Amino acid sequence: MSPESNASAATPTVPRVIPRERHNVSRKHISRGALKVLYGLKDAGFRACLVGGAVRDLLLGRQPKDFDVATDATPEQVKKIFRNCRLIGRRFRLAHVVFGPEIVEVATFRGTGDGEEDGDRHVVDGRILRDNVWGTIEEDALRRDFRVNALYYDIADFSVIDFVGGIEDLEQKDLRLIGDPATRYREDPVRMLRAARLAAKLDFTIDPATAAPFRELGHLLADAPSARLFDECQKMFLAGYGLASFTMLARYDLLRHLFPGTVRALAHDASGSLEALIERGLAGTDARVADGRPVTPAFLFAVLLWGEVVDLAGRLQGEGTAQSLAWQRAAHRVMAEQGKRVAIPRRFGFAIEEIWALQPRFAERSRKRVFRLMAHPRFRAAYDFLLLRSGESDSLRESGEWWTHVQTLTPEQLSESLARPAASGAGEKPGGARRRRRRGGRGRKPAAPQPDSQA
Ligand code: ATP
Ligand code: MG
Repeated sequence: MSPESNASAATPTVPRVIPRERHNVSRKHISRGALKVLYGLKDAGFRACLVGGAVRDLLLGRQPKDFDVATDATPEQVKKIFRNCRLIGRRFRLAHVVFGPEIVEVATFRGTGDGEEDGDRHVVDGRILRDNVWGTIEEDALRRDFRVNALYYDIADFSVIDFVGGIEDLEQKDLRLIGDPATRYREDPVRMLRAARLAAKLDFTIDPATAAPFRELGHLLADAPSARLFDECQKMFLAGYGLASFTMLARYDLLRHLFPGTVRALAHDASGSLEALIERGLAGTDARVADGRPVTPAFLFAVLLWGEVVDLAGRLQGEGTAQSLAWQRAAHRVMAEQGKRVAIPRRFGFAIEEIWALQPRFAERSRKRVFRLMAHPRFRAAYDFLLLRSGESDSLRESGEWWTHVQTLTPEQLSESLARPAASGAGEKPGGARRRRRRGGRGRKPAAPQPDSQA
């Protein structure tokens, strides 16, 4: 950050006000809920502005995914205005105003807290653990993370207000922290991840001064609450720009603070097949998001942690543990270790382990086992995972093709084909050949491929 911008961040003097006719933020692109909140606050005599990512995205001509409002009303005052309002958060108290599926987040202007006694800010070793000190809009701008995130759209006159040079950064496609970067990361280390994520999402460059402390301060992420890191992972990897986020995290050496095992496994990945698997997994998830199809963290984590499970299972087998037990132990251990960094909710943890546990079962082609695997609730996700792995070896590619083919067959056709010796793939168990005698399961329907593999 240049000395001038530092000075301007520390002492906001004259804000730059861009009147309605000189910017492209239109009420047409602001959600109904956000407009109701802005007008509701204004009509009650409060100051109300759209702020943060929504203003940034609108100025860039992108449709925001959510709308945040900043106001001089306290959370309690906001609650009195809107019946459909609940107060949330302790660390950072907020009002949520709910309109069906839409939630508009309303934050009271935060102050700098210098010498103030009337608020509630708790700082330990430079880290802000609670931030509920109210202030002015200028102070609020300075408490925000990046200059492009500190722009306000004022409902009183539809102007955009820039206290910190955010407009300039938008024009330069630059991501810069407000204030001294090291101090701001000590206050909240998750800002390092936000920098990588927003640069990926917006295709911006992280300003050198903003990126400089990553190496030295990245370790502070170890103390960030693991549940918050899980939320951040979802934003990074499941919002349509996962591959770009991953690339950014790797480039700035932040990945090892979130996924140390993945970084270790990538270091052993001489053939590049793990990297290719991760890239395809993330690109596939991005494509699903772009198509409006659902995505799940389970598939994503199964992809990111796969290399480590393979390495560990191999090591355990090398030490004499039986194959299936080695896999089971490896999966448990990898999940337990990862859980210390990023709190993966249990339901996803089960799904991840199932996706992994089903992988060896794709090598089994006896009629009974094929039908059983296709009926498994996690079949579709595990099959998608198998396809991702098809670059690992010729036999995996053949396996992927075979499983793709069998899903196009009717149950009768599948039964027939499995009864023929030719049905079994090279090197696979010739189950079909030995199983000419049909038992019970004739005509049982294989699981219909589910429309959504990631569900
Ligand atoms: P996205 O478009 O992905 O939602 P965003 O910038 O809107 O990105 P949010 O998490 O929705 O991100 O946060 C809204 C706004 O709140 C930000 O634009 C920023 O002004 C402020 N903010 C969020 N997190 C922090 C933080 N850790 N420190 C300071 N300000 C923050
Ligand atoms: Mg946002």
